Amino acid sequence: MKSVGKTDIKSLVFGELQEQLRKLGEPSYRAGQITDWLYKKRVDAIDEMINLPRPLRQRLSETFSLGKIDLIRVLGARDTTRKFLFRLTDGNLIESVLIPASLALYGMRSDRRTICVSTQVGCAYGCKFCASGLEGFSRNLTSNEIVDQLIAVERETGEKIDNVVFMGMGEPLANLENVLRAIRIINAEWGLGIGARHITVSTSGLAPQIRILAEEPLQIRLAVSLHGATDEVRNRIMPVNRRYNIETLLSACDYYKAHKKQRLTFEYILIADVNDSDEQARLLSHHAHRLSAKVNLIPYNSVAGLPWVRPSKDRQEKFLAVLQAGGIPATLRREKGHDIDAACGQLRLQTKREFCSGAL
Ligand code: SAH
Ligand code: SF4
Repeated sequence: MKSVGKTDIKSLVFGELQEQLRKLGEPSYRAGQITDWLYKKRVDAIDEMINLPRPLRQRLSETFSLGKIDLIRVLGARDTTRKFLFRLTDGNLIESVLIPASLALYGMRSDRRTICVSTQVGCAYGCKFCASGLEGFSRNLTSNEIVDQLIAVERETGEKIDNVVFMGMGEPLANLENVLRAIRIINAEWGLGIGARHITVSTSGLAPQIRILAEEPLQIRLAVSLHGATDEVRNRIMPVNRRYNIETLLSACDYYKAHKKQRLTFEYILIADVNDSDEQARLLSHHAHRLSAKVNLIPYNSVAGLPWVRPSKDRQEKFLAVLQAGGIPATLRREKGHDIDAACGQLRLQTKREFCSGAL
Protein backbone atom coordinates (compact mmCIF):
# COMPACT_ATOMS: atom_id res chain seq x y z
CA MET A 1 0.00 0.00 0.00
CA LYS A 2 1.20 3.52 -0.75
CA SER A 3 1.11 5.83 2.23
CA VAL A 4 2.80 9.18 1.96
CA GLY A 5 4.50 7.93 -1.17
CA LYS A 6 5.91 4.76 0.38
CA THR A 7 5.16 1.22 -0.72
CA ASP A 8 3.91 -1.05 2.04
CA ILE A 9 6.49 -3.74 2.68
CA LYS A 10 3.68 -6.29 3.03
CA SER A 11 2.62 -5.79 -0.58
CA LEU A 12 5.88 -7.21 -1.93
CA VAL A 13 6.27 -10.82 -2.99
CA PHE A 14 9.46 -12.62 -2.03
CA GLY A 15 11.34 -12.01 -5.30
CA GLU A 16 10.56 -8.30 -5.17
CA LEU A 17 11.76 -8.07 -1.60
CA GLN A 18 15.00 -9.84 -2.55
CA GLU A 19 15.45 -7.40 -5.41
CA GLN A 20 14.92 -4.39 -3.11
CA LEU A 21 17.46 -5.79 -0.66
CA ARG A 22 19.94 -6.43 -3.46
CA LYS A 23 19.65 -2.76 -4.41
CA LEU A 24 20.45 -1.87 -0.80
CA GLY A 25 23.54 -4.10 -1.01
CA GLU A 26 22.14 -6.65 1.42
CA PRO A 27 22.55 -10.45 1.26
CA SER A 28 19.49 -12.28 -0.10
CA TYR A 29 18.85 -14.25 3.13
CA ARG A 30 17.57 -11.00 4.63
CA ALA A 31 14.36 -11.45 2.62
CA GLY A 32 13.60 -14.62 4.58
CA GLN A 33 14.32 -12.88 7.87
CA ILE A 34 11.97 -10.06 6.95
CA THR A 35 9.09 -12.27 5.78
CA ASP A 36 9.51 -14.24 8.99
CA TRP A 37 8.98 -11.07 11.01
CA LEU A 38 6.05 -10.00 8.85
CA TYR A 39 4.09 -13.23 8.45
CA LYS A 40 5.24 -15.60 11.20
CA LYS A 41 6.05 -13.31 14.12
CA ARG A 42 3.83 -10.55 12.75
CA VAL A 43 5.48 -7.45 14.11
CA ASP A 44 3.89 -4.02 13.82
CA ALA A 45 7.04 -2.03 13.10
CA ILE A 46 10.15 -2.53 11.01
CA ASP A 47 12.20 -1.50 14.03
CA GLU A 48 11.01 -4.63 15.86
CA MET A 49 12.92 -6.83 13.38
CA ILE A 50 15.76 -7.11 15.82
CA ASN A 51 17.97 -9.57 13.97
CA LEU A 52 18.42 -6.98 11.21
CA PRO A 53 21.26 -4.50 11.63
CA ARG A 54 19.97 -1.19 12.92
CA PRO A 55 21.10 0.80 9.81
CA LEU A 56 19.15 -1.61 7.60
CA ARG A 57 16.03 -1.21 9.74
CA GLN A 58 16.50 2.52 9.35
CA ARG A 59 16.83 2.28 5.56
CA LEU A 60 13.81 0.01 5.30
CA SER A 61 11.71 2.35 7.42
CA GLU A 62 12.71 5.24 5.17
CA THR A 63 11.82 3.25 2.05
CA PHE A 64 8.71 1.32 3.08
CA SER A 65 5.67 1.73 5.23
CA LEU A 66 4.26 -1.07 7.36
CA GLY A 67 0.54 -0.40 7.55
CA LYS A 68 -2.07 -1.94 9.76
CA ILE A 69 -5.84 -1.99 9.65
CA ASP A 70 -7.72 -1.05 12.82
CA LEU A 71 -10.34 -3.39 14.16
CA ILE A 72 -13.22 -1.24 15.37
CA ARG A 73 -16.08 -3.64 15.87
CA VAL A 74 -16.69 -7.38 16.28
CA LEU A 75 -20.09 -9.01 16.13
CA GLY A 76 -20.92 -12.60 17.03
CA ALA A 77 -19.34 -15.12 19.38
CA ARG A 78 -16.88 -17.99 19.14
CA ASP A 79 -18.47 -21.01 17.39
CA THR A 80 -20.80 -18.74 15.45
CA THR A 81 -20.19 -16.56 12.46
CA ARG A 82 -18.30 -13.46 13.52
CA LYS A 83 -18.01 -10.18 11.66
CA PHE A 84 -15.06 -7.83 11.92
CA LEU A 85 -15.27 -4.21 10.91
CA PHE A 86 -12.02 -2.43 10.10
CA ARG A 87 -11.05 1.17 9.58
CA LEU A 88 -8.37 1.69 6.95
CA THR A 89 -5.69 4.36 7.25
CA ASP A 90 -7.74 6.69 5.03
CA GLY A 91 -10.83 6.26 7.23
CA ASN A 92 -12.71 3.90 4.90
CA LEU A 93 -14.56 0.97 6.48
CA ILE A 94 -14.35 -2.65 5.33
CA GLU A 95 -15.43 -5.93 6.81
CA SER A 96 -14.43 -9.59 7.03
CA VAL A 97 -16.50 -12.54 8.18
CA LEU A 98 -15.17 -15.58 10.02
CA ILE A 99 -17.24 -18.72 9.53
CA PRO A 100 -16.42 -21.55 11.96
CA ALA A 101 -17.34 -24.48 9.74
CA SER A 102 -16.37 -24.17 6.12
CA LEU A 103 -18.67 -24.66 3.20
CA ALA A 104 -18.29 -28.34 2.48
CA LEU A 105 -19.30 -27.71 -1.10
CA TYR A 106 -16.06 -25.93 -1.86
CA GLY A 107 -14.37 -29.22 -1.13
CA MET A 108 -12.99 -28.21 2.24
CA ARG A 109 -13.23 -30.04 5.54
CA SER A 110 -16.09 -28.95 7.71
CA ASP A 111 -14.15 -28.57 10.96
CA ARG A 112 -12.19 -25.65 9.63
CA ARG A 113 -12.38 -21.92 9.85
CA THR A 114 -13.08 -19.89 6.76
CA ILE A 115 -12.55 -16.17 6.39
CA CYS A 116 -14.50 -14.15 3.89
CA VAL A 117 -12.44 -11.10 2.88
CA SER A 118 -13.27 -7.82 1.16
CA THR A 119 -11.38 -6.70 -1.93
CA GLN A 120 -12.76 -3.22 -2.51
CA VAL A 121 -14.38 -0.38 -0.59
CA GLY A 122 -17.91 -0.61 -1.94
CA CYS A 123 -18.57 -2.15 -5.32
CA ALA A 124 -19.19 -0.66 -8.75
CA TYR A 125 -21.26 -3.57 -10.04
CA GLY A 126 -24.50 -2.55 -8.37
CA CYS A 127 -26.28 -5.90 -8.12
CA LYS A 128 -29.81 -4.99 -7.09
CA PHE A 129 -29.92 -7.33 -4.08
CA CYS A 130 -26.52 -6.52 -2.55
CA ALA A 131 -25.66 -4.16 0.31
CA SER A 132 -22.10 -3.64 -0.99
CA GLY A 133 -23.30 -2.07 -4.17
CA LEU A 134 -25.76 0.28 -2.49
CA GLU A 135 -23.39 3.12 -1.87
CA GLY A 136 -21.32 2.75 -4.99
CA PHE A 137 -17.60 2.22 -5.34
CA SER A 138 -14.86 4.09 -3.46
CA ARG A 139 -11.59 2.32 -4.24
CA ASN A 140 -9.68 -0.91 -4.64
CA LEU A 141 -8.05 -2.44 -1.59
CA THR A 142 -4.29 -2.78 -1.78
CA SER A 143 -2.85 -6.27 -1.48
CA ASN A 144 -1.60 -5.63 2.04
CA GLU A 145 -5.05 -4.44 3.13
CA ILE A 146 -6.39 -7.78 1.90
CA VAL A 147 -3.68 -9.83 3.63
CA ASP A 148 -4.06 -7.72 6.81
CA GLN A 149 -7.67 -8.87 7.19
CA LEU A 150 -6.40 -12.42 7.82
CA ILE A 151 -3.61 -11.30 10.10
CA ALA A 152 -5.91 -9.06 12.16
CA VAL A 153 -8.62 -11.71 12.53
CA GLU A 154 -6.11 -14.38 13.58
CA ARG A 155 -4.61 -11.95 16.06
CA GLU A 156 -7.97 -10.97 17.52
CA THR A 157 -9.33 -14.51 17.82
CA GLY A 158 -6.14 -16.45 18.45
CA GLU A 159 -7.46 -18.96 15.91
CA LYS A 160 -5.79 -20.25 12.79
CA ILE A 161 -7.61 -19.61 9.53
CA ASP A 162 -7.73 -22.59 7.18
CA ASN A 163 -9.71 -21.33 4.20
CA VAL A 164 -10.09 -18.01 2.45
CA VAL A 165 -13.02 -16.97 0.30
CA PHE A 166 -12.99 -13.71 -1.65
CA MET A 167 -16.69 -13.10 -1.09
CA GLY A 168 -16.76 -10.00 1.06
CA MET A 169 -17.31 -6.51 -0.20
CA GLY A 170 -16.24 -5.77 -3.75
CA GLU A 171 -15.68 -7.56 -7.02
CA PRO A 172 -12.32 -9.39 -6.77
CA LEU A 173 -11.81 -9.69 -10.51
CA ALA A 174 -12.19 -5.92 -10.91
CA ASN A 175 -9.12 -5.61 -8.65
CA LEU A 176 -7.32 -8.56 -10.15
CA GLU A 177 -3.74 -7.39 -9.84
CA ASN A 178 -3.93 -6.67 -6.11
CA VAL A 179 -6.04 -9.76 -5.47
CA LEU A 180 -3.53 -12.00 -7.25
CA ARG A 181 -0.68 -10.43 -5.32
CA ALA A 182 -2.55 -10.97 -2.04
CA ILE A 183 -3.26 -14.58 -3.02
CA ARG A 184 0.44 -15.19 -3.68
CA ILE A 185 1.28 -13.87 -0.22
CA ILE A 186 -1.52 -15.82 1.46
CA ASN A 187 -0.52 -18.99 -0.39
CA ALA A 188 3.29 -18.81 -0.11
CA GLU A 189 5.26 -20.82 2.42
CA TRP A 190 7.12 -17.63 3.32
CA GLY A 191 3.73 -15.89 3.70
CA LEU A 192 0.61 -17.23 5.38
CA GLY A 193 1.01 -20.74 3.94
CA ILE A 194 -2.63 -21.44 3.05
CA GLY A 195 -2.92 -23.96 0.20
CA ALA A 196 -4.29 -22.74 -3.14
CA ARG A 197 -7.09 -25.31 -2.95
CA HIS A 198 -8.23 -23.58 0.24
CA ILE A 199 -8.62 -20.26 -1.54
CA THR A 200 -11.80 -19.42 -3.48
CA VAL A 201 -12.39 -16.32 -5.58
CA SER A 202 -15.97 -15.32 -6.31
CA THR A 203 -17.03 -13.19 -9.27
CA SER A 204 -20.27 -11.71 -10.49
CA GLY A 205 -19.21 -12.67 -14.00
CA LEU A 206 -16.31 -10.63 -15.41
CA ALA A 207 -15.75 -12.85 -18.43
CA PRO A 208 -12.43 -11.41 -19.70
CA GLN A 209 -10.87 -11.63 -16.22
CA ILE A 210 -12.07 -15.22 -15.83
CA ARG A 211 -10.02 -16.01 -18.93
CA ILE A 212 -6.97 -14.25 -17.47
CA LEU A 213 -7.39 -16.21 -14.24
CA ALA A 214 -7.65 -19.43 -16.25
CA GLU A 215 -4.13 -18.84 -17.50
CA GLU A 216 -2.68 -18.31 -14.02
CA PRO A 217 -0.84 -21.38 -12.78
CA LEU A 218 -2.33 -21.07 -9.26
CA GLN A 219 -4.78 -23.90 -8.49
CA ILE A 220 -7.26 -21.69 -6.65
CA ARG A 221 -10.99 -22.30 -6.81
CA LEU A 222 -13.43 -20.13 -8.72
CA ALA A 223 -17.04 -19.47 -7.77
CA VAL A 224 -19.31 -17.71 -10.23
CA SER A 225 -22.30 -15.79 -8.87
CA LEU A 226 -24.91 -16.78 -11.41
CA HIS A 227 -28.18 -15.98 -9.58
CA GLY A 228 -30.23 -16.38 -12.73
CA ALA A 229 -30.24 -19.00 -15.47
CA THR A 230 -31.49 -16.73 -18.26
CA ASP A 231 -30.46 -13.28 -19.46
CA GLU A 232 -33.92 -12.03 -18.61
CA VAL A 233 -33.53 -12.88 -14.91
CA ARG A 234 -29.89 -11.87 -14.69
CA ASN A 235 -30.48 -8.54 -16.44
CA ARG A 236 -33.10 -7.73 -13.86
CA ILE A 237 -30.83 -8.13 -10.85
CA MET A 238 -27.23 -7.96 -12.13
CA PRO A 239 -26.26 -5.03 -14.37
CA VAL A 240 -22.98 -6.81 -15.23
CA ASN A 241 -25.04 -9.19 -17.38
CA ARG A 242 -25.69 -6.40 -19.88
CA ARG A 243 -21.96 -6.26 -20.49
CA TYR A 244 -21.24 -9.99 -20.36
CA ASN A 245 -24.37 -12.00 -21.00
CA ILE A 246 -24.84 -15.60 -19.91
CA GLU A 247 -23.37 -17.12 -23.05
CA THR A 248 -20.29 -14.86 -22.90
CA LEU A 249 -19.89 -15.75 -19.23
CA LEU A 250 -20.37 -19.48 -19.74
CA SER A 251 -17.92 -19.63 -22.61
CA ALA A 252 -15.32 -17.91 -20.39
CA CYS A 253 -16.15 -20.62 -17.84
CA ASP A 254 -15.61 -23.31 -20.55
CA TYR A 255 -12.19 -21.80 -21.13
CA TYR A 256 -11.48 -21.82 -17.40
CA LYS A 257 -12.57 -25.43 -17.12
CA ALA A 258 -10.28 -26.43 -19.99
CA HIS A 259 -7.30 -24.98 -18.08
CA LYS A 260 -7.99 -26.12 -14.51
CA LYS A 261 -8.39 -29.29 -12.57
CA GLN A 262 -10.64 -27.73 -9.92
CA ARG A 263 -14.37 -27.81 -10.43
CA LEU A 264 -16.20 -24.53 -10.76
CA THR A 265 -18.95 -23.59 -8.33
CA PHE A 266 -22.04 -21.66 -9.30
CA GLU A 267 -23.42 -19.59 -6.49
CA TYR A 268 -27.12 -19.01 -6.73
CA ILE A 269 -28.97 -16.80 -4.25
CA LEU A 270 -32.60 -17.82 -4.01
CA ILE A 271 -34.87 -14.76 -4.17
CA ALA A 272 -38.62 -15.26 -3.99
CA ASP A 273 -40.44 -14.80 -7.30
CA VAL A 274 -37.30 -13.59 -9.05
CA ASN A 275 -35.13 -16.63 -9.78
CA ASP A 276 -36.65 -19.50 -7.79
CA SER A 277 -38.91 -21.24 -10.35
CA ASP A 278 -38.54 -24.88 -11.39
CA GLU A 279 -37.85 -23.62 -14.90
CA GLN A 280 -34.83 -21.63 -13.65
CA ALA A 281 -33.68 -24.70 -11.74
CA ARG A 282 -33.85 -26.84 -14.89
CA LEU A 283 -31.89 -24.30 -16.93
CA LEU A 284 -29.37 -23.94 -14.11
CA SER A 285 -28.89 -27.75 -14.14
CA HIS A 286 -28.23 -27.52 -17.82
CA HIS A 287 -25.50 -24.85 -17.36
CA ALA A 288 -23.97 -26.75 -14.43
CA HIS A 289 -23.92 -29.94 -16.47
CA ARG A 290 -22.14 -28.20 -19.34
CA LEU A 291 -19.38 -27.05 -16.97
CA SER A 292 -19.37 -30.02 -14.57
CA ALA A 293 -19.97 -27.36 -11.95
CA LYS A 294 -21.28 -27.68 -8.43
CA VAL A 295 -24.14 -25.45 -7.33
CA ASN A 296 -24.29 -23.67 -4.02
CA LEU A 297 -27.78 -22.38 -3.24
CA ILE A 298 -27.92 -19.50 -0.79
CA PRO A 299 -31.25 -18.31 0.62
CA TYR A 300 -31.31 -14.54 0.23
CA ASN A 301 -30.38 -12.48 3.29
CA SER A 302 -32.68 -9.52 3.45
CA VAL A 303 -31.06 -6.08 3.30
CA ALA A 304 -32.72 -3.10 4.96
CA GLY A 305 -34.20 -0.87 2.31
CA LEU A 306 -34.30 -3.52 -0.43
CA PRO A 307 -37.52 -5.25 -1.47
CA TRP A 308 -36.27 -8.81 -2.00
CA VAL A 309 -37.08 -11.75 0.28
CA ARG A 310 -36.02 -15.38 0.46
CA PRO A 311 -38.40 -18.07 -0.77
CA SER A 312 -40.18 -20.40 1.67
CA LYS A 313 -38.25 -23.42 2.96
CA ASP A 314 -40.42 -25.62 0.75
CA ARG A 315 -39.58 -23.68 -2.37
CA GLN A 316 -35.86 -23.77 -1.49
CA GLU A 317 -35.95 -27.56 -1.06
CA LYS A 318 -37.94 -27.99 -4.26
CA PHE A 319 -35.41 -25.97 -6.22
CA LEU A 320 -32.61 -28.10 -4.77
CA ALA A 321 -34.51 -31.28 -5.65
CA VAL A 322 -34.72 -30.27 -9.33
CA LEU A 323 -30.94 -29.85 -9.45
CA GLN A 324 -30.33 -33.13 -7.66
CA ALA A 325 -32.73 -34.94 -9.98
CA GLY A 326 -30.60 -33.62 -12.84
CA GLY A 327 -27.52 -35.22 -11.24
CA ILE A 328 -25.94 -31.90 -10.24
CA PRO A 329 -23.92 -31.83 -7.01
CA ALA A 330 -25.77 -29.12 -5.15
CA THR A 331 -26.16 -27.91 -1.61
CA LEU A 332 -28.54 -25.54 0.03
CA ARG A 333 -26.86 -23.29 2.56
CA ARG A 334 -28.93 -23.52 5.67
CA GLU A 335 -26.65 -20.78 6.53
CA LYS A 336 -25.12 -19.33 9.62
CA GLY A 337 -24.94 -15.68 10.36
CA HIS A 338 -28.33 -14.48 9.17
CA ASP A 339 -28.85 -12.98 12.61
CA ILE A 340 -25.73 -10.83 12.44
CA ASP A 341 -26.06 -9.55 8.90
CA ALA A 342 -23.49 -11.89 7.41
CA ALA A 343 -24.16 -11.04 3.78
CA CYS A 344 -21.44 -8.93 2.28
CA GLY A 345 -21.48 -5.21 2.93
CA GLN A 346 -24.21 -5.29 5.52
CA LEU A 347 -22.27 -4.57 8.68
CA ARG A 348 -20.48 -1.67 7.09
CA LEU A 349 -23.73 -0.20 5.87
CA GLN A 350 -25.35 -0.63 9.27
CA THR A 351 -22.36 0.96 11.01
CA LYS A 352 -22.35 3.90 8.64
CA ARG A 353 -26.05 4.43 9.28
CA GLU A 354 -25.44 4.34 13.04
CA PHE A 355 -22.58 6.79 12.66
CA CYS A 356 -24.84 9.13 10.80
CA SER A 357 -27.56 8.86 13.43
CA GLY A 358 -25.02 9.32 16.23
CA ALA A 359 -25.45 5.83 17.68
CA LEU A 360 -21.70 5.07 17.76
N1 SAH B 1 -18.48 -9.54 -6.07
C1 SAH B 1 -18.30 -10.93 -5.95
C2 SAH B 1 -17.88 -11.37 -4.57
C3 SAH B 1 -18.53 -10.70 -3.41
S1 SAH B 1 -20.25 -11.02 -3.20
C4 SAH B 1 -19.55 -11.67 -6.39
O1 SAH B 1 -20.56 -11.02 -6.62
O2 SAH B 1 -19.46 -12.89 -6.55
C5 SAH B 1 -20.21 -12.69 -2.56
C6 SAH B 1 -21.52 -13.42 -2.71
O3 SAH B 1 -22.50 -12.89 -1.80
C7 SAH B 1 -22.10 -13.30 -4.12
O4 SAH B 1 -22.54 -14.54 -4.59
C8 SAH B 1 -23.23 -12.36 -3.86
O5 SAH B 1 -24.18 -12.44 -4.86
C9 SAH B 1 -23.71 -12.79 -2.50
N2 SAH B 1 -24.62 -11.85 -1.86
C10 SAH B 1 -24.66 -10.51 -1.98
N3 SAH B 1 -25.68 -10.00 -1.26
C11 SAH B 1 -26.31 -11.04 -0.69
C12 SAH B 1 -27.45 -11.16 0.15
N4 SAH B 1 -28.11 -10.10 0.55
N5 SAH B 1 -27.82 -12.41 0.53
C13 SAH B 1 -27.15 -13.51 0.14
N6 SAH B 1 -26.05 -13.44 -0.64
C14 SAH B 1 -25.65 -12.23 -1.07
FE1 SF4 C 1 -20.60 -6.25 -6.13
FE2 SF4 C 1 -20.69 -8.91 -5.74
FE3 SF4 C 1 -22.38 -7.23 -4.43
FE4 SF4 C 1 -22.68 -7.61 -7.05
S1 SF4 C 1 -22.89 -9.16 -5.43
S2 SF4 C 1 -22.74 -5.60 -5.99
S3 SF4 C 1 -20.56 -7.79 -7.72
S4 SF4 C 1 -20.15 -7.32 -4.21
